Amino acid sequence: MTEKDIVIGDINPLISNDAFKIIIYEFNNILENLCENYDLDFKEISKMYSNKISQVGMKIGIKKRNRRVLPPNLLCMGRKLDGQQCTRGRRPDSEYCKSHSNKLTYGRIDDNMEIKKKQKKKNKSDDYLVTYVENIDGENYLIDEKNFVYSYNLVRPKFLGIKTNNGIKYLNQCVPCS
Ligand SMILES: [Zn+2]
Repeated sequence: MTEKDIVIGDINPLISNDAFKIIIYEFNNILENLCENYDLDFKEISKMYSNKISQVGMKIGIKKRNRRVLPPNLLCMGRKLDGQQCTRGRRPDSEYCKSHSNKLTYGRIDDNMEIKKKQKKKNKSDDYLVTYVENIDGENYLIDEKNFVYSYNLVRPKFLGIKTNNGIKYLNQCVPCS
């Protein structure tokens, strides 16, 4: 069986395939960002909207590449970033495509490895100190989870010392660090 390219007329795309790749990339970036900010499952959302971006491609005349679907025994055994099996073909005498022959960054598809989720961006609330207000000897203080005592100043709390059973052990009473 020989494969022939199917010519769907000589449609000239308004932009190049490479330019469209940039659009897809940026589109996915926006989606990912959105998912992160709203705590949505990026995989699910991108599945729902990937055909939207393909439609944009069609509008500007980008032809969808007709991919050959390889039988499973010819598929590369590498795992992609998204946790799915690599869709490229195996190289001769190998179980991997060219890129996965070099390096299996995300392991093999059948190795049962858990893909660690991308670390979320540092939460903005990390800039804040979680404290509760406590009244000690008639005075309000802010105390954090480590029992560190701060002045009752919600904007610029000053570290004073450590809360003990006998009240506050002030900074200047603490044993200096050696
Ligand atoms: Zn591969």
